[in-house]
Amino acid sequence: MGSFRRLKDFFFKHKWSYIFGIIWLLSVDAAQLAIPRILGNLTDDLEKNILDKSGIIKYVFYIILAGLVVAVGRYFWRMYIIGNSRKLEYHLRKQLFDHLLTLSPNYFNTHKTGDLMSHATNDISAVRRALGFGIIMLIDSLFLIILTLYMMINTTSLKMTIIAVFNLPIIILLTRNFGKTIYNRSRIVQGAFSNLTEITQESFAGIRVIKSFVQEDLVSEKFYQVNEDSLRKNLDLVKVSGSFRPLLQFVFSISLLITIYYGGKQVIVGNISLGNFIAFNSFLALLNWPTRALGQIINVLQRGAASMDRLNLILDEKSEILELNDAIDLNEIHGEIQFRNVSFKYPNSNYNALTDINFTVEKGKTLAIVGKTGSGKTTIVNLLLRLYDISQGEILIDDMDVKNLSLKTLRENIGYVPQDNFLFSQSLKDNIAFAFDEKVPDKKIYSAAKIAEVYDNIMKFPKKFDTILGERGVTLSGGQKQRTSIARAIIKEPPILILDDSLSAVDTETEEKILNNLKDSTKDITTIIISHRISTIQSAHKILFLDNGQIKERGTHEELLALDGLYRDLYEKQLLEEKIKG
Ligand code: ADP
Repeated sequence: MGSFRRLKDFFFKHKWSYIFGIIWLLSVDAAQLAIPRILGNLTDDLEKNILDKSGIIKYVFYIILAGLVVAVGRYFWRMYIIGNSRKLEYHLRKQLFDHLLTLSPNYFNTHKTGDLMSHATNDISAVRRALGFGIIMLIDSLFLIILTLYMMINTTSLKMTIIAVFNLPIIILLTRNFGKTIYNRSRIVQGAFSNLTEITQESFAGIRVIKSFVQEDLVSEKFYQVNEDSLRKNLDLVKVSGSFRPLLQFVFSISLLITIYYGGKQVIVGNISLGNFIAFNSFLALLNWPTRALGQIINVLQRGAASMDRLNLILDEKSEILELNDAIDLNEIHGEIQFRNVSFKYPNSNYNALTDINFTVEKGKTLAIVGKTGSGKTTIVNLLLRLYDISQGEILIDDMDVKNLSLKTLRENIGYVPQDNFLFSQSLKDNIAFAFDEKVPDKKIYSAAKIAEVYDNIMKFPKKFDTILGERGVTLSGGQKQRTSIARAIIKEPPILILDDSLSAVDTETEEKILNNLKDSTKDITTIIISHRISTIQSAHKILFLDNGQIKERGTHEELLALDGLYRDLYEKQLLEEKIKG
C-alpha cells in the first residue's frame, strides 16, 4: 500500500465522503445478513405452527425493509466511493500533466511519448479501479466474512462452522500466490501496451516518411510483431487470472458438500433445528461472494499498485533545471547578453558541444551565428533559454547570471523562433497569440503577421486568421510555418529575439523584406540570428563563425571577408551556388 502514499492528501480532503460511503456499505452488508436470519426464524415459526396472518406480515415487512436498505445503501455508497475514485482519476491526471510540463526538454528526449500516454490512460485507470472498487470490495468482503462467521457460530455451533469453512485459509493462500503472479504478469502486459502505443503513434506521426520511402510493409511487419508480443503477454496473464476464479469456486463447493452431509445428520438427530440449518446454509452461500471477491480484489489492488509505482517514478522525477528560491523576478529586462568561458556537454553525450565560448551582444544590436550543422549554434540558444544548465562558465543577461533569474522572467523576455516551428492544432490567430493568457486585439495580431510577411498568405485562406491548422484544418508550407512562428515570437515585443534558422524555407526576397521589417519595427531589440545563409546575416553588427563547438572567427561581414578564412570560403561557395542556380 506504500505505493499510494502520495495520495494521502487526497484521501484526507475527501475523508467524509469516504466515511459516509463506508457507513452505507456496511449498512447494506448488515441488511443482507439480516435476510437469512429472518428466513431462519420464519421457518422455525412455520414448523412450530405458531404464525398467524399478522405474524407473516411482520416477516414480510422485515424482508422488505432489509431489501430497501440494500437498494438505497448501494446507491449511496456508489455515489460516494465510486464518485471519489473518479475525482481521484481527475486529480492524478492533472498532477501528472502539470508535472510533465515542469520537466526539462531533456526528459522528453529520453522518454517515449507512447509511454507517457499509456501512463496517462492505463495506469491512472488501474489506480482508480484499485482505489474505488478495490477498496470497497476489500472492506465489504472482510466485514461480510467476519459478520457471517459470527452469525454462523451463533446459529449452529463453533464446530459445525469450522467444518464448513475449513478451506477459507486455502482460499486466502491461493489468492495471495495467484495475486503475486498476476502482479508480475500485468506489469509485463502494461509494458507491451506501451510499446504498442509508441509504434502506433510514431508510425502515424511519420506517415509521410514511411510512404515516401515505401516502407509500409516493414512498418506493418514491425507492428505485427509488437502486437503479437502484446497478445502473447496478455494470454499469459489470462491463463493465470482465468484459472484463478474456477479454482476458488471448486474449493468453495467442497464446503457446501460437507455442510449438507454433516449438517443434515445433525438435523436428523435433532441437534439443530431445520430453521437454523436453512439459515446456516444461506450464510454459507453468503460467504461465497466475499471469498471469491477477495481474489479479484487482490488482482485489482496489485494492478493498481503496479501502476501507481510507474506513476510515482514519473512524479518523483525532478526537473534538471531548478529555479533558485530567491530567483529574481523582473517585468522587463534591458537586453544585453554575455557568454563568459562557456563550455557545455549534453547530459547523455561524451563530447563537448561547446568549448570556451566568449562573446557580448549589446542592447539593440544583432549577433549572427554561422557554421556547419552540428557546430553548436542551437546549443548556444538552448543555454541562453536555460533549457539546459552549463557546468562551466557564465551566461549573463544585463550582468545577471541567468541561473539567478526566474525562469518566467528569462523566457518571457526572449522571443524564440525555434528550428522545428511547431504549431498547435488551433486557429492561426491563437497560434500567433500563443504567449498571451488574455485576449489579444486583432490589430496586434495582424501587425505581427505583417512584419513576418505572412499576412497576405493568411488573408487568402477562406477563414483567414480563424483557419484551423493541423489534422482538423489546413497544412501550411514550410515557409508559411516559419513566418507564422516569427509572428508568434515578435508579437510579444520581447527585448531579445532569437531566430534559429528561421528563414531557411523562405525565398531570399521575402527574407530581405522580413529582415527590413524587423529592423524598422524592432529598433531596440537585441537579436540573435542563426543561419546557414550569409545573405541572412551579412548586415549583423557582429558575426560568430562556429566550428566544432568553438568560435573560429568573429567580426562584421567586411572584417570577416578581409580575414580571408573559413567565413570567406563559405561566402564564396554560396555565391557560386547562387550563380549556378541563377
Ligand atoms: P547546430 O545548431 O549548429 O546544427 P547543435 O547545437 O544542434 O548544432 O548541436 C551541436 C552538437 O551537440 C552536435 O554534435 C549535436 O549532435 C549535439 N547535440 C545536440 N542536441 C543534443 C542533445 N539533446 N543530446 C546530445 N547531444 C546533442
